[in-house]
Amino acid sequence: MTAQPDRIETRLLRAGSPPFDDGLAPVNVPVVRTSTVRFERHADREAAAQRRRDGEPVATYGRHGTTTHRALEAALAELEDANDVLLAPSGLAAISLVFLALLSPGDHVLVQDSVYGPVREKVEPLLSRLQVSFDYFDASQGPPLAQLRDNTRLIYVESPGSYVYEVIDLPAFARFADEHGVLLAADNTWSAGLLHRPLTLGADVSIQATTKYAGGHSDLMQGAVATRDADLARRLRDTYDGLGLSVSADDAYLALRGIRTLPVRLAQHARNALAVAGYLAAEPAVERVFHPARPGDPGHALWQRDFSGSNGLVSFALRGDHAQAVAFVDALRLFAIGASWGGYESLALIAQPSRLREQHYWCGAEPVVRLHVGLESPDDLIADLDQAFRRVLR
Ligand SMILES: *Cc1c(COP(=O)(O)O)cnc(C)c1O
Repeated sequence: MTAQPDRIETRLLRAGSPPFDDGLAPVNVPVVRTSTVRFERHADREAAAQRRRDGEPVATYGRHGTTTHRALEAALAELEDANDVLLAPSGLAAISLVFLALLSPGDHVLVQDSVYGPVREKVEPLLSRLQVSFDYFDASQGPPLAQLRDNTRLIYVESPGSYVYEVIDLPAFARFADEHGVLLAADNTWSAGLLHRPLTLGADVSIQATTKYAGGHSDLMQGAVATRDADLARRLRDTYDGLGLSVSADDAYLALRGIRTLPVRLAQHARNALAVAGYLAAEPAVERVFHPARPGDPGHALWQRDFSGSNGLVSFALRGDHAQAVAFVDALRLFAIGASWGGYESLALIAQPSRLREQHYWCGAEPVVRLHVGLESPDDLIADLDQAFRRVLR
């Protein structure tokens, strides 16, 4: 009889756990901080170096990480269904790593137009200096055949997209990329790896900012790049090593600790966000609510097909002007104003209008407020939103 494979919630609690040593073991992996690795004999060092050259993730130097890092990589590999994971000092560093590893001078990349803003603002200028050209596509029109060029090497997507959560047909993009011999990379931060598996759906590379839900406590900057293909893994690792990237053992520990409770935290964020989204949908000052787990959202059917759950992000377009949006977020008491998301606390932010203009998915003129719904009581959060609407817009 073959054993039933454990579900992801179970595997996440075991991944990277310290093995029993003489019959006993701590629950958690130790935080192993070191700048270098000591060898007893020269031959031991040579043997380890050879294994590393052969592609094994053997650490022969502090920059390569320690058992703490290997444990986090194992947990992220469970989340992403990956064979190989690289840890980066931030989500944006993980994205840049992928672009730098997979693109060379003269290459062309196609990027979804509702992508995380700093990809345009920071990564494009960096790659442009290296003679890589960028074009942005409207993902609602399907794979960008008309924009494909002979030198297109990479398609870069993010589903759901930033601010207004455009869900794309990822398997269709994967088939398209495959047919045309182009790589597909996906930013999987929204799902934290738990709710959506780009590699299983056909993407070549999955990226996430573990800063967000993996960390979960707003005390960490980190990113991860996951892949299954050994050749791609080697290309990514070569660039990673060339850039000298590494993350601290303390930060690796924090992300792993966060992952142990990721499923229960994310489920509660999702419940709270759905309650808040339901309240917002009935509020006369709200023009539109953006949240793919709500029936009626344009991405709902694709979300139902390709995702197993939702998170704490809810955005809405406000029937008002920018000054009223500012007064509204200033009137909130339980939502602090801040970028980022994925921590236990609620945050609000007015979406940068220039970034909204760059995407085709939603072209309204109203200001958009993005909420990250935290783990506070949803009743308290709704009461807070309600008093702010009453003060500013009613
Ligand atoms: C936050 C975020 C990033 C960047 O992560 P940092 O760790 O803040 O650099 C990348 N992609 C998406 C979708 C994000 O929300």
